[in-house]
Amino acid sequence: MTRTPLFGIPFDDVPLAAALDAAMGLMQGGGCAYTVTPNPEIVLEARKNRALFDALTGAALILPDGVGLIWASRLAGTPLRHRLPGIDFAEALLERLEAENGSVYLLGARPGVTAQAAAALAARRPRLRICGCRHGYFEETENETIIREINAAHADLILVCLGSPKQELWMQQAAPRLDRGLLIGLGGALDVLAGRKKRAPVWMRRLGLEWLYRLVREPSRIKRMIRLPGILTAAMKEKGRKQE
Ligand code: UDP
Repeated sequence: MTRTPLFGIPFDDVPLAAALDAAMGLMQGGGCAYTVTPNPEIVLEARKNRALFDALTGAALILPDGVGLIWASRLAGTPLRHRLPGIDFAEALLERLEAENGSVYLLGARPGVTAQAAAALAARRPRLRICGCRHGYFEETENETIIREINAAHADLILVCLGSPKQELWMQQAAPRLDRGLLIGLGGALDVLAGRKKRAPVWMRRLGLEWLYRLVREPSRIKRMIRLPGILTAAMKEKGRKQE
């Protein structure tokens, strides 16, 4: 698979169908692997947070989520061609998994929301086996129990929705201790599945404006988003450095 580095993170720059094939292959291969779907905010954070950077680069599949990464990659002189929002990828993966009678475990979101997401998913995808779920507000001391539970459930896919960087760090330490399957970090995806949060209308998503929709719905995000143009200046500096 083609990997395109951006700020040292080797993104898998592939269309949806190839990413799905790769994910299904990882699920069926021996051991457990993990997938990350970094957006510009996560990539910016990884530039100063070494632990997060290592967790990202240790993933078997690294998919670019967010139009900001496409812009940044062009400015850095290493253009990414395929943007794959994590939630779109997860939806398509769940569809494939259902067709193959696979199983999914849901980890994350607030107590109550996780079960609501599981119920909504079961209603929409009756052939998909939901082999367990657990909310995302747990202590580190509970990691062992969670890992045992996922192993006992023989999950094919584990949605890890703890927000970043918690989910990437969690997957990095859990993957070697899990027997099989694929972990994927998906931020607030369970809130969306549960119907608690709405996604932007399709026309906005096509234009790469999902971030604007979220900002209007959740104005408190401004504190997080205000830093985002920083990725474009960082990309320009990166290009400058490469040319020196
Ligand atoms: N969350 C969690 N455990 C925590 C902190 C957060 O399960 O310790 C959940 C939170 O309830 C939400 C998700 O992680 O469902 C983070 O959502 P956010 O919208 O911030 O993530 P984004 O989609 O922006 O990456």
